[in-house]
Amino acid sequence: MSNFFHTKIEFLKGVGPQRAELLQKELNIYTYGDLIQHYPFRYLDRTQFYKIAELDEALPYVQVKGRIRGKELIGEGRKQRLAATLTDETGDMELVWFKGVKWMEKTVKNHTDYIVFGKPTLFNGRFSMAHPELEELAEAKQTGSFLQPVYHTTEKLKSFRIESKVIAKMIEVLLKQAESQIQETLSPELIDHYRLMSKREALLNIHFPESVEKYNAAKFRLKFEELFYIQLRLLRQKVVRRADLAGQVFKEIPTLNTFYKEHMTFDLTNAQKRVVREIYKDLTAGKQMNRLLQGDVGSGKTIVAFITMLIAADNGAQSVLMAPTEILADQHYTGLKVFADRLGINIGKLTGSSKTKARRELHEQLRSGDMKMLVGTHALLEDVVQFQNLGLCIVDEQHRFGVEQRSKLWRKNSRIIPHVLVMTATPIPRTLAMTLYGDLDVSVIDELPAGRKEIVTVHRFDSHRLKVFQFIRDQIKLGRQVYIVYPLIEESEGMDYKDLMDGYESVQRAFPEYKVSMVHGKMKAADKDYEMQRFVRNETQIMVATTVIEVGVNVPNASVMVIESAERFGLSQLHQLRGRVGRGAEQSYCILMTGYKLGKDSKTRLETMVRTNNGFEIADIDLKLRGPGDLMGTQQSGVLDLLIADLAKDAPILQEARAAAQRTLEEDPQLEQSKHQNIRRHIQSLSANTVNWSRIS
Ligand code: ADP
Ligand code: MG
Repeated sequence: MSNFFHTKIEFLKGVGPQRAELLQKELNIYTYGDLIQHYPFRYLDRTQFYKIAELDEALPYVQVKGRIRGKELIGEGRKQRLAATLTDETGDMELVWFKGVKWMEKTVKNHTDYIVFGKPTLFNGRFSMAHPELEELAEAKQTGSFLQPVYHTTEKLKSFRIESKVIAKMIEVLLKQAESQIQETLSPELIDHYRLMSKREALLNIHFPESVEKYNAAKFRLKFEELFYIQLRLLRQKVVRRADLAGQVFKEIPTLNTFYKEHMTFDLTNAQKRVVREIYKDLTAGKQMNRLLQGDVGSGKTIVAFITMLIAADNGAQSVLMAPTEILADQHYTGLKVFADRLGINIGKLTGSSKTKARRELHEQLRSGDMKMLVGTHALLEDVVQFQNLGLCIVDEQHRFGVEQRSKLWRKNSRIIPHVLVMTATPIPRTLAMTLYGDLDVSVIDELPAGRKEIVTVHRFDSHRLKVFQFIRDQIKLGRQVYIVYPLIEESEGMDYKDLMDGYESVQRAFPEYKVSMVHGKMKAADKDYEMQRFVRNETQIMVATTVIEVGVNVPNASVMVIESAERFGLSQLHQLRGRVGRGAEQSYCILMTGYKLGKDSKTRLETMVRTNNGFEIADIDLKLRGPGDLMGTQQSGVLDLLIADLAKDAPILQEARAAAQRTLEEDPQLEQSKHQNIRRHIQSLSANTVNWSRIS
């Protein structure tokens, strides 16, 4: 965008310094450009009106045209409310306000025609609307657009009377001045190929649509543009990285061959073989590897990690495997050490609870290069941990690590950046993966080891607990072990903790003949470990736990997963938990326990779990239920703060935008051709704008 759009918002007619400050603080609107990109989040359809006689409680928000005939203040002091009667030719209804009563009493005009917008509810046989949006019919007719924009605003802004309508007015004023300044941001070729609306027309129509068709075209155009530039940036980073970063070449594989021949207890699945080949190709290419390995729970990522570490060791390089929790690091270490010992490879473990003396020895062995493999938690990021030649970093369950933490690992080799393999069991929907990891190469293990039986998942109400307990007893008699998981959500930790303890006691009472372990986040690492190990050795038959067992824990003999208050877990989390069973040869079960009262989303989550074991399908549904921000945690939400596109809904547009970005870069990597000048100019303006980020923090 040209300089015009960098103009400070306070200079816009009707804004001024005071309102400008509010807009900055509340909505991050600093410039004309920011304001013009403050898109409506919904529209009032001026063509759709309900008659009062047609109202129905099942309707969401509706628009009614009528005349206000009478208003009165009812009650006293803080309990005071304003009630007005709205009538049309079919009947009458009530409008009520509980807040800002005095102000509304002054604003609402008697014997005047209004358009009201709100949610109708039935009260004592009469329809009523609380805090409806109001607009005088006479005024409404002036704004030409029949789809009236509704803008996001905040309580604070509203208290300064900067309501949606006021923002609409500002944007209207701005658009009049801006119209001639709006430059096209996409190449003529793209506009032509995708039959896109011009940028100018799109901006006008997204705010004040002239017709439904134009609105749809404007929306498509702006979404496409937004996704196109994200993809273009990611793809360019990828190209730059490829060209710039050299990587160690790992060609030799003598120990890996020995391992294959003499120590592997099973054959790799075809998917695992394919992934190993992809990784090996990266490691021999002379470029730094940056690869994301996706594989559903139980698909066998650990062995792939170990094989990759072996390749590094075979070429004189050290490797680290970093896990998000202590339990998981322990388990990886124990599992890999068996193989490493047989192969004569020195492997170590470093976690928060490693003793000082052990640490010192470990540091020494890492510096000298004696120790080839290191497994640990984020403790291994500390500066004192130095390597002779770190050549490979593997990060398990990466979504718990910030990008910053990862880059700390990369810096542990000052000569040549280590290869990076990021492993995740959270199947990320394709759309998200493309956006979050568009700069990584992706490998997928899309096949479970042979002989696995599909986990049987059922939903049971709390009232069936006795039957569930009987089922558990039968399974334990067959020699199996059982997990019972309770939710633990930080905000209400005290209460959840009590639930867990009560649960633990009732399980002990119900199964006096069996031993019960318990693991939760408040325990000391050593105690947790002790309990976990007892369960692993089958000394206890039931493990009562919180979600600390969520990731990675591997007890093949455990075949029943009971999840208490299952409605309180997210879908991906339920799937992760279920993945703790189904790791052995036996038929496994997942039992989701809930009360009778369930919300709509909870029902969808439970039904989805019962219906499918497919992690990718589950991730897609989770994305639709929760939206991308929640799904990935706040950490990465910056990437996902999209202006208009929606990763949950716009997968098809994203595919097109990515393909378009790819073609553009293939044809003209430096964007030097004249037909790409719009794109080049827009990138420059975008990167000029990133300076603005500093003012936010
Ligand atoms: P995840 O991908 O969830 O990390 P793991 O690596 O923990 O899965 O593997 C799950 C289980 O499957 C482990 O017990 C592992 O030894 C076993 N496993 C992995 N690959 C195979 C295979 N190709 N054939 C049989 N079992 C396998
Ligand atoms: Mg794992």
